[in-house]
Amino acid sequence: LVIPMFETFVSNYKRAYLEIKEDQNKEYSGGSVATYIPPLAKANPEWFSTCFCSTDDQQSSMGDTDIKFSMQSISKVLAYAFLYDQIGGTEVHKWVGEEPSGAAFNAPVFDKLGRPHNPMVNPGAIMICALLVRHGYSLRDLISFYRRATLETISKDEDTTCIDEQLYREEKLTGHTNHALTSLMLANRAFPQYKSEEHTKEGADRALDLYFKNCSILVNTKSLARFGAMLANNGIVPSTGERLLKSSTVQAVVTVMTTCGMYNGAGKFTMELGVPAKSGVSGGLLTVVPSVGAVASFSPRINSEGNTVRGIAVIQKLSQTYNNFNLFHK
Ligand code: GLU
Repeated sequence: LVIPMFETFVSNYKRAYLEIKEDQNKEYSGGSVATYIPPLAKANPEWFSTCFCSTDDQQSSMGDTDIKFSMQSISKVLAYAFLYDQIGGTEVHKWVGEEPSGAAFNAPVFDKLGRPHNPMVNPGAIMICALLVRHGYSLRDLISFYRRATLETISKDEDTTCIDEQLYREEKLTGHTNHALTSLMLANRAFPQYKSEEHTKEGADRALDLYFKNCSILVNTKSLARFGAMLANNGIVPSTGERLLKSSTVQAVVTVMTTCGMYNGAGKFTMELGVPAKSGVSGGLLTVVPSVGAVASFSPRINSEGNTVRGIAVIQKLSQTYNNFNLFHK
């Protein structure tokens, strides 16, 4: 067993969860719900759930685990992992870099080669979507992949039932910065469509549409923890033994999560906690502990860097007891 005394683990996990939830010393009362768009603004600031899944499929969950939330930027991990595995790192990284940008996730900045800095910032994720479109993939492929990893049944009309439609429409209508980033990349001839002389504007619009849809995919912490456990298990689904991703893909994914997954708080987060992670503005946080498992948390109050306050607290508390959660702990 990866975690030999799982009952002890569960009671430590539960204590951590309750300490954060009850928050006697008001350590975790900060942060606020994202308000840039009505569907996110109406989230209850007190929603809180967390789920752990080990690489040998031991699971434990606390709180409002049935509440679904949009993946937002956590979908950047899903899209990058899927694409990287399909077309390989050499092709992916012709168009998007591997370095932290040092700028906001939606800043109009590019590297020396004119590429978005990495797949975790918005221009990088839009570029990943452009490559997905170019190689004939759609939202349906990403959702099917997620569901194969998390063993959820696949419904017939996934395209409409698995995303928050209202959120998607509003992101598309009001996501002016993302539209601007896309136009800028078109102007810079950054998209691969440009080189093959396809319909460039049309291709870029399809990429951006897929980006907005990805951000709107609905998940809960249980499925997210299972998805993370597949990454922690080097690409193999713990409960079935099915290999979904190559090891080389997983290596790239957890690396980019470590260096760029927590917006501009990634350096500090990694220095303190040493675990690959990706957060999103809706308050989700996925942390992947290679060869151990994954912790997925959801709590909509986010700090000034955009990271969930109570989600970070969960992994902080767990790593105090289980120092192997920190990859760099000696
Ligand atoms: N959907 C928002 C955007 O594209 C936020 C994504 C996130 O950072 O979680 O700007």
